[in-house]
Amino acid sequence: MTQKKVIIVGLGPAGLFAAKELIEHGFTVTVLEKGKGLKERTKKDLLFGVGGAGLFSDGKLCFNPFIGGDLTEFVNLEGANSLIQEVHNTFKNYGMNNGYAHKNLEDLHNLRDESAKCGIRFVEIMQKHIGSDYLVNIVDNFCQDLIKKGVEIQTETEVLDVVVGNNQIKELVTNTGLVSSDYYLFCVGRYSSVWFNKIAQKIDLETQHRYTDIGVRIETLHSITKTVTDIQYDPKFHIYTNTYDDFIRTFCTNPEGFVVTETYEKFVNVNGHAMKDKKSTNTNFAFLVRVKLTEPIEDTTSYANLIGKLANFLGGGKPILQRLGDLKKGRRSTWQKIEKNLVQPTLNDVTPGDISLLLPHRIVTDIVEGLEKLDKIIPGINSDSTLIYAPEIKLCALRIVCNKDMKTKSFENLFVAGDGAGVSGSIVAAASTGLIAARGIIKRK
Ligand SMILES: Cc1cc2nc3c(=O)[nH]c(=O)nc-3n(C[C@H](O)[C@H](O)[C@H](O)COP(=O)(O)OP(=O)(O)OC[C@H]3O[C@@H](n4cnc5c(N)ncnc54)[C@H](O)[C@@H]3O)c2cc1C
Repeated sequence: MTQKKVIIVGLGPAGLFAAKELIEHGFTVTVLEKGKGLKERTKKDLLFGVGGAGLFSDGKLCFNPFIGGDLTEFVNLEGANSLIQEVHNTFKNYGMNNGYAHKNLEDLHNLRDESAKCGIRFVEIMQKHIGSDYLVNIVDNFCQDLIKKGVEIQTETEVLDVVVGNNQIKELVTNTGLVSSDYYLFCVGRYSSVWFNKIAQKIDLETQHRYTDIGVRIETLHSITKTVTDIQYDPKFHIYTNTYDDFIRTFCTNPEGFVVTETYEKFVNVNGHAMKDKKSTNTNFAFLVRVKLTEPIEDTTSYANLIGKLANFLGGGKPILQRLGDLKKGRRSTWQKIEKNLVQPTLNDVTPGDISLLLPHRIVTDIVEGLEKLDKIIPGINSDSTLIYAPEIKLCALRIVCNKDMKTKSFENLFVAGDGAGVSGSIVAAASTGLIAARGIIKRK
């Protein structure tokens, strides 16, 4: 019997896990990755290249089916937990260490109960932190194993277009020529989702607008957050704000970490990371308000892009930095004020300014009220010296409408997985959807 062929587009977590599953089930697997190989990647290639965006970060892995999406949309809870366990074991086989990024269950439960008393939901998660300085080796081990098993990885090969006919994908147009296959699995990540949406429109794939997360990155002294980050490395606090009843959450906490910028197509965003060996004296985390639009405009991505562009315009092409005290008093921050500030920024490529000029009043109110509530669990977070960077925007890609196997509605041989299809928003979730899609293809063999 001739082996069925699958082309996977994109080698982030979704692509890697799908490739492993498919090659181990007797498929011929080719991966087309537009970015560079792992060894050639530099900081400039943060979002694209072997490992994708996620596995070139610091690798905070959240083993919970409701973090980074909701896996129970595709499998039942038992199935979701088992997928997560598989992702965990695979990372472990490729070199992830045993240490958990959370303390014992009793401490987690206590933090949950203390948070509840303040009207805050603390989400308990089995968590691991690999560190930017260690993750590369794990991804390298993963790729070497894939290559050994027969996966062909073509780097610097960008898919530019797709050719369709008879409810099938016929060919892909790449920068190196035309390629064809029995099945196609698109795992292109969030940062190519705008391109992928154009393709979706062109070939009539059904899509749905979802929410977007708009907010800031908070930075304070590590000594202030230590009481909670020692219990859970990346604690997820979910808060509803008083004035607007909006949902705001902490996300991507980096104890002793660094704030960084990431350049999108339309604006410069802030983000954060932490290393296992190199430490700062600060902790940073994203503080994000969920925004969903209904009528007449549902397009949250364009709305978020406009805010990102406005933020960069006001910052002269750089993110804005402000002390919380200045924000509350309605004054801009300046370098003179920042220099005297108790908390010193770990990112200096910013413009001190006034965040209330670039974020909508509603979002600023949510952030101020959210920090007031959070202060009950993290005393000191609501101090004047707390630093705020903006914008931090998490664009959620348009959802490509697909079935529970991640097969698209219109095409029998087109599958999707990961952040680019709007079905995930974290490393573990993207990896899990890669496995689901691979199994969807295997079923049809
Ligand atoms: C700085 C940073 C830090 C992060 N930290 C964490 C963290 O600690 N924990 C966590 O859970 N999540 C983190 N995330 C989010 C996480 O990176 C994503 O959720 C995850 O990587 C999504 O995986 P994916 O496989 O869907 O896509 P991606 O990882 O984005 O991979 C997609 C791949 O597809 C390739 N590609 C795109 N278009 C094409 C094309 N046309 N042709 C060929 N190849 C293409 C890209 O080059 C890329 O390599 C972080 C993200 C960033 C940017």
